[in-house]
Amino acid sequence: MDIQGLFKEYYRKNPVPPPPSIERREFAFTTFSSSGMIRHISFKNPEEMNRYIIERIPRHAYYSTAYYSDPSAPEMEDKGWQGADMVFDIDVDHIDTPCKPLHDTWRCKACGAHGRGLALKCPVCGSESLERQTWVCDRCISVAREEALKLIDILEEDLGISRSEMIPVFSGHRGFHIHVEDKALIDLEQEARREIADYVRGLGIDPDLYIERTGDLYKYKYPSTAPGWRGRIAMHLALRGKEDTPLPREELKKLIMECVAEARANIDEKVTMDVKRLIRLPGTLHGKTGLKVLPLTIQQLEAMDAASIIERAVALPDTPVSVEMEEWPRRVLGFTFSEDGSKKTVPLYLAVYLVLNSPTARILSIG
Ligand SMILES: [Zn+2]
Ligand SMILES: [Zn+2]
Repeated sequence: MDIQGLFKEYYRKNPVPPPPSIERREFAFTTFSSSGMIRHISFKNPEEMNRYIIERIPRHAYYSTAYYSDPSAPEMEDKGWQGADMVFDIDVDHIDTPCKPLHDTWRCKACGAHGRGLALKCPVCGSESLERQTWVCDRCISVAREEALKLIDILEEDLGISRSEMIPVFSGHRGFHIHVEDKALIDLEQEARREIADYVRGLGIDPDLYIERTGDLYKYKYPSTAPGWRGRIAMHLALRGKEDTPLPREELKKLIMECVAEARANIDEKVTMDVKRLIRLPGTLHGKTGLKVLPLTIQQLEAMDAASIIERAVALPDTPVSVEMEEWPRRVLGFTFSEDGSKKTVPLYLAVYLVLNSPTARILSIG
């Protein structure tokens, strides 16, 4: 089974939509045949881009969030930076979703200990050198979707970014990218982007500024109609039935910070701050899953559950194939598997995802 051939077939039938101002973007690709990244590519028009994609069949495809006067210049300082879209990245890789014990495993390279679920360092010897096998399921994407919706709400309500300028994109793997193509934000430098990233993450909130004394106790100062974090915290206090409850000072402050943790958007701030970032090109296939990098409207993101988003991102055929693999994840995409048996019949698109990620997975036969 030739995965590259399946990608080629897909690209023949499904032209990739161009990003806005295609001629001012840098493109970058990796291929199936070599490990390095091909950079400093530019295209004059969508036809040129799609010809390149069908000829080269990239494993991963990226474009610059930045606009350049000379995007194919080999040195970054010669490209002529002319601003950049703002992009927010939500990735469940570093969020402890409840399904991780069902599909993620780790092994410590230092002491050989192993286990299931999310481990940032070895609980036995403390080493951070871990070998991980991670998978994505609909529950992971459901958590990422909630984070994306919180983010969109903060961007719209607090920062006045119009919904029509925000494009949520399922990354094809572990989460979402929110592309903001607002002309007013394009020129922002790194520091200003950091402030926006910190704001949506709820950093720097001092709960002492949000409370006032009432008798011997303290209460929250602001109504849920107050703008920004003041109102957002009030709303979360109300969800807990605590909006008017006088409490001891430290207890109230702790409660406020719990509300912030609930309401904040869990983004990777490095992506938002970077004004020369390469980001996955929507409409292409993700080389680790074979799923489509899927642009959505906000209305679709709100209306669709995680399972239907994954379903829509499936790009390869669903022909049943027989796959052999040593350790099957208990849950992957929308599928649940039992632990017993190394051979199972699955749709081809899932087989591709398994083979691209597990060194022990093999497609045995079609049908
Ligand atoms: Zn260890
Ligand atoms: Zn999961």
